Amino acid sequence: MSENIALYGGTPIRQTQMNYAKQAIYKEDIDAVVSVLKSDWLTQGPKVRELEKLLCNTFGASYTVTSTSGTSALHLACLAAGIKEDDEVITSPLTFVASANCIKYCGGTPVFADILEGTYNINPVSVESKITNKTKAIIAVDFAGQPVMLEELKSICEKHKLILIEDAAHSFGSKYKGRYVGSIADITTFSFHPVKTVTGGEGGAILTNNKEYYERMRLMATHGITKNPDEFIIADDNFGEWYYEQIDLGYNYRMTEMQAALIISQISRLDFFKEKRRKICEQYNKAFEKITGLIIPFELPQMDTCWHLYVLGINEDQMGCNRKEFFDALVAENIHPQVHYIPVYHHPYYQRLGYGNYESPVCESVYQQILSLPLYPAMTDDDVCDVINAVLKISEYFRRTRK
Ligand SMILES: *Cc1c(COP(=O)(O)O)cnc(C)c1O
Repeated sequence: MSENIALYGGTPIRQTQMNYAKQAIYKEDIDAVVSVLKSDWLTQGPKVRELEKLLCNTFGASYTVTSTSGTSALHLACLAAGIKEDDEVITSPLTFVASANCIKYCGGTPVFADILEGTYNINPVSVESKITNKTKAIIAVDFAGQPVMLEELKSICEKHKLILIEDAAHSFGSKYKGRYVGSIADITTFSFHPVKTVTGGEGGAILTNNKEYYERMRLMATHGITKNPDEFIIADDNFGEWYYEQIDLGYNYRMTEMQAALIISQISRLDFFKEKRRKICEQYNKAFEKITGLIIPFELPQMDTCWHLYVLGINEDQMGCNRKEFFDALVAENIHPQVHYIPVYHHPYYQRLGYGNYESPVCESVYQQILSLPLYPAMTDDDVCDVINAVLKISEYFRRTRK
């Protein structure tokens, strides 16, 4: 006789709660932040400059601007791309709201293309079908860490004269055809939120090879203020060292030295983080690939993914239960997954703007199936076993009792 699941009175797989993500902070990280606190600079000092240089060198981009968050990085990218009222920008519906909100910040209109079965990334064919004479840019999201189909999207952008912005909040450390994400799209944005692969508490970065974009983002991240005499508009011979000009309406999107120091320290462990995440994904894949009703992540051969999320699909017909019941069953086992994501246009704000619910049929059906299992470098072998045992126990229970 098989076990009862915790949701229906059985004993939970574990006694302590495990969440889907957790930062990995080491002693060296703490030391790096503390030494900044004892220094002369708390913001926009040597650590921020060092991080910007490090990101350029690591990912092969010519320019980097750091910022307060992945969201402000996306806002700056849209400003650099010149998004304004009446412009349309095509993005994925299966993403965090920030990927679309940044378009709204600039007065533009988000247009949602559908995603692909398998990778859950934006479908280039659907993107092309959404292009109008108002389309200005594409914001492509590397879902779960797997890069989007960059070559296909780039050629669409070339053909229609669009700017390609890659929301790489999930894909720090991922490679596309052997090349790091960060220098392939026109503009690439990263996030350093604590659930992401590398964290600064909060923080963001924008990478580009385009000098004009870079200068615009640098200006807009610091109130639209310049201290560069070449850019002055009204300065005369009487201006001195105190002088600066605000030449546009910018923002305070400055990263602190504490954030930069923490991120630099974290990046020194990027290969370790990537390997650890890959190993956990492999253990999950191996345990789940033969279980009827479970859909494991699919990676295209040209990708070398630094996995941010492990997204498991539940086929309701085969499993005999839906995603919600499976999710609740995991929670009862003391394993707390998450769902990435509620399609952006489902949210009341977007509904008020008139977005329909079923404009992306693949996204709609994927959203009904998915949940994200715990995936973070600090997971022990026992933690990974607990997740696997819980998923297997729940799958076995539903297929036994419902099919
Ligand atoms: C986390 C995330 C963001 C926003 O980053 P923040 O640093 O939290 O502002 C944007 N897009 C995606 C896909 C994300 O996962």
